[in-house]
Amino acid sequence: MPRNDFIDLRSDTQSHPTDAMRQAMATAEVGDEQKGDDPTVNALCARVAELTGKEAAMFLPSGTMCNQVAILVHCQPGDEIIAAEVSHIIRSEGAGASALAGTQVLGIPSHQGVFSGADVDAAARKPKRNAPRSRLVEIEQTVNYSGGNCWPVEAIKDVGEAAHRNGLKLHMDGARLLNAVMATGTSAVDFCRPCDTAWIDLSKGLGCPIGGVLAGDAEFIEDAWRWKHRLGGAMRQAGIIAAAGLHALDHHVERLADDHANAKHMATRLADISGVSLDPPDVETNLVFFDISGTGRDAAELEQELSTHGVGIGASGPGRMRAVTHLDVDRAQVDAAMDILAGLLAGD
Ligand SMILES: *Cc1c(COP(=O)(O)O)cnc(C)c1O
Repeated sequence: MPRNDFIDLRSDTQSHPTDAMRQAMATAEVGDEQKGDDPTVNALCARVAELTGKEAAMFLPSGTMCNQVAILVHCQPGDEIIAAEVSHIIRSEGAGASALAGTQVLGIPSHQGVFSGADVDAAARKPKRNAPRSRLVEIEQTVNYSGGNCWPVEAIKDVGEAAHRNGLKLHMDGARLLNAVMATGTSAVDFCRPCDTAWIDLSKGLGCPIGGVLAGDAEFIEDAWRWKHRLGGAMRQAGIIAAAGLHALDHHVERLADDHANAKHMATRLADISGVSLDPPDVETNLVFFDISGTGRDAAELEQELSTHGVGIGASGPGRMRAVTHLDVDRAQVDAAMDILAGLLAGD
């Protein structure tokens, strides 16, 4: 169980497995995952394939590996990937797209991580001997670093059509796809329909300790298996962790709405603090970014100070911070954290 004297808003990865989840893990039926013999892993993959409307799915140790395996299957060395400048694959995956797949990522400007089919048309390279070959478009649902905002389904359709008319594939980093589903009422199948491949993270808002599930057509998943092995992502009695995923899909999806309501509540508390402004102003899901430059304080220093007062809120730039609601943080803890932040900024 998490330390109850520390209110950890640094990320939705900070939740700990619940007792019920641990129980499901302890009693999971297991087998050899590499050989396709783990019934719990197989059930989780079937479940996510259905959830995303794809033919097949694959269990992987992390969301990062879901992105990297997808890139490795879709692209050849020298290929180019089109993605928003703010994307996780550019900022936070150790340049895996170049280090592992030999690709380059073209970061394009966007409105909070959302771009259009026309942007894809403009970014796709015309065939030329000296040009990289455009191969893949990547989108993020929700967009982490610009504010946890959702890609509207119409925008995904538009980008999917543009990708396909340019001969490119569309991949969705769906680390928080189910947050978008709960926030918009659009189904995961509808969000994923324009995408060739998509994945969900189990270790973010769903509250599992480990794992991501990557979905696509049967041929894609077959090819993905070779990369899963090569990267050391093929496991053995992995049902013990897949059971957490099945438990989360049964019990932790609807409750994401609570995280969103708590994030909106936090936003109203932040807006009341002098010198603090929300950035972006609208909180759509569970990620709350705010600007503290008006307080004259440095975000990294404030992060340290908050931490000594039992609150985890991360600096995401010199004057910008990110606070994230999740399963282990209730409304009273959000209020307590905001009281502490307001007090520190008031010099109490
Ligand atoms: C967290 C995250 C990832 C990586 O997931 P891990 O499970 O931490 O490897 C990828 N994309 C986005 C948008 C994320 O927020």
